[in-house]
Amino acid sequence: MFDSIKKIFTANQNEEIQLVYGDKPDIPREKSAELYEKAKQYFPGGVNSPVRAFKSVYGTPLFIEKGDGCRLWDADGNEFIDFCCSWGPLILGHNHPKIREKIIEVMQNGLTFGAPTALESELAELIIKNNRFIEKIRFTSSGTEAVMSAIRLARGVTKRDKIIKFEGCYHGHTDALLVKAGSGLVTFGETSSAGIPKAYADETIVISLNDKAAVKAAFEQFKEQIACVIIEPIPANNGLLLQDKDFLEYLREICDENCTLLIFDEVISGFRVGFEGAAGYYDVKPDIVTYGKIIGGGLPVGAYGASAGIMSNISPEGGVYQAGTLSGNPVAMAAGIAQLSELVKSGFYKELNTKTEQFVDAIQRYASSKNYHFRVFQIGSIFWFAFTDQEKIQTSEAINPKSMNKFKLMHRELLNRGIYLGPSGYEVGFVSAAHSKVDLEKAKRAIFESLDIVFKNK
Ligand SMILES: *Cc1c(COP(=O)(O)O)cnc(C)c1O
Repeated sequence: MFDSIKKIFTANQNEEIQLVYGDKPDIPREKSAELYEKAKQYFPGGVNSPVRAFKSVYGTPLFIEKGDGCRLWDADGNEFIDFCCSWGPLILGHNHPKIREKIIEVMQNGLTFGAPTALESELAELIIKNNRFIEKIRFTSSGTEAVMSAIRLARGVTKRDKIIKFEGCYHGHTDALLVKAGSGLVTFGETSSAGIPKAYADETIVISLNDKAAVKAAFEQFKEQIACVIIEPIPANNGLLLQDKDFLEYLREICDENCTLLIFDEVISGFRVGFEGAAGYYDVKPDIVTYGKIIGGGLPVGAYGASAGIMSNISPEGGVYQAGTLSGNPVAMAAGIAQLSELVKSGFYKELNTKTEQFVDAIQRYASSKNYHFRVFQIGSIFWFAFTDQEKIQTSEAINPKSMNKFKLMHRELLNRGIYLGPSGYEVGFVSAAHSKVDLEKAKRAIFESLDIVFKNK
């Protein structure tokens, strides 16, 4: 069964490699390959966001034609149960009728006016009435923009320049945050992209997650210079690095002691682990929160919110400038309203989170019964497959890069069995309200088979 040899093509060089593979043939990708060739003529790497290029997994990137509920169909007609969910926004699944209908209704009256509409307040009210942590909000068009603006706000309020971020947290592609740790306990960051002035990186201090001593040392070294600490309270962009609650509480304390603002970047965790995101889950109050992904119901929306006092520093009320041509446009607001209206219904999160927990527990039980070095980390409806035996992984340094080879095999076996995961082992998966128990049963079986193959390929 497992000894057949097959030639497959990697997406990058069309280089032939040989691999022992399982008893399922590779899915057809001729149409996707054709579309990819065309896209490469027009876009760097053939894509408009790098991870989509399938550089870390086998084969040509799949070009998607349609999504409905928890399912996706690609250009070759392959059908998948989708656990990527557009990287998080689709908590209700694809093509949800309430979102689609609301968008169509609003679109009848035009798409954008560059002037206020009632819909912005409707979405803001829905959020703020159900969230203890913010009093005012500003909508942007992406998570990156929300984070960039939140940092500017923190600097404007504190009149300080330096910021602290954590290795392994992603905050979008804004200059000050595309910075990785250098060596040493407390370091100025090194830029992690070309094109970022060193002077920007010099204002960003990068430390390890879940490390109180490093945080303390940074505050001692840069007394009265730190505008804000920014963290993904549920780091979910580089594996799922679940933090100890008391680490987040410690950040709250040390920020208070130093008149530094605490920013929770909840672009991925907001409205995901509960309506109030990680702040609500851990009951730790940030000074500024950023949102994105789920908030727009599948359309481009980001937001940042804080107390009325802090938000009064934003223009036109205050001196911190921030604007956007399409910010709060009616169509995007409509999608957000339709989606969040479903999420505030009683029992929504309980059902989704329980369903995910049962799914993940069954996978873990199977892997453990076979003694596979494999763990599924999970919180709410977020999960991460890690090829490890560590009970906890709380820092990016604790992830073994070699384990990604196993993910690569797993990803291909899953595609061949109709399961779509994001094309990188550092990415988390999501369960949506559209994944039925039957879908999850089907997915489990495919996951068990794929694990068997991965661990036979040692
Ligand atoms: C996705 C993400 C961002 C960036 O949001 P975009 O909408 O892609 O710009 C920022 N922070 C976190 C935590 C994210 O998950």
